[in-house]
Amino acid sequence: MHRRTFIDLLAAGVAAYAVHPSLGLTAQPAAWHDRLPKVELHLHLEGAHPRATLWELITKYGGDPAIKSRGDLDRVFVYSDFGGFLRTFVWMMRYVREYDDYTLIGQAVARDLARQNIRYVEGFFSPPDYRRAKLDPQRVTEALRKGLNRVTSIQVALVPDLVRDRGVEHAGNLLERMGEMKNQGVIGIGIGGFEPTFPPELFEATYERARVLGLRTTAHAGEAAGPASVWGAVRALRVDRIGHATRAIEDPDLVKHLAARRIPLELCPSLMFAPA
Ligand SMILES: [Zn+2]
Repeated sequence: MHRRTFIDLLAAGVAAYAVHPSLGLTAQPAAWHDRLPKVELHLHLEGAHPRATLWELITKYGGDPAIKSRGDLDRVFVYSDFGGFLRTFVWMMRYVREYDDYTLIGQAVARDLARQNIRYVEGFFSPPDYRRAKLDPQRVTEALRKGLNRVTSIQVALVPDLVRDRGVEHAGNLLERMGEMKNQGVIGIGIGGFEPTFPPELFEATYERARVLGLRTTAHAGEAAGPASVWGAVRALRVDRIGHATRAIEDPDLVKHLAARRIPLELCPSLMFAPA
């Protein structure tokens, strides 16, 4: 696939906004926002499929006694805290078991994003989570790509999450296999998971190897741990950008450093208050 960077696409979007008369600021705010070409970063693809698709998958695998109708799904997606959000994510993944399911999800997510006039996405997916269903990470990547490619009006680049909780050796092995998937639109790597137990420094060699393989780098940091985790992502992992970094605000020197180095942060302030 032809690959353009986020900055290229952002520039193209801004240029389109600047010259396109239908994007005037006098329009209603909602309509203006709908028409604006947009970029979506830090999207976890397996958690982004529409509820109709989830219901299709639940039905495919025999239903769930606690979910009697599609309408019941609305109740499932109300959380009181981040733990509730994670439990729901794990529950949802129980209904994603086959390669075809990833193709279905890829197509559904791409269609939903395109409908919002999103033109470019850098989406996470988490191959370590597929072990439960005994799926091969490369075949999952191909299955996702097949579904994403069915929607031609949007470009979706892939960023596999090595998932720090699986350990350094697992991350290294997965990195090698993901490095072979650049022809499927894999452009970089990230690590999510539990920061306090698996700090960034453990993965310094993994990130160095990713750069050798020609992959870009990001890492979740400063979400479940404090500023030290963000420092680790910057100094040990030398990331191109950081997911969340919310708690960087606790260390003014770190904030100055991030600004001076112009390291982009993937921030979603509302998530910190109401994960939904
Ligand atoms: Zn994330």
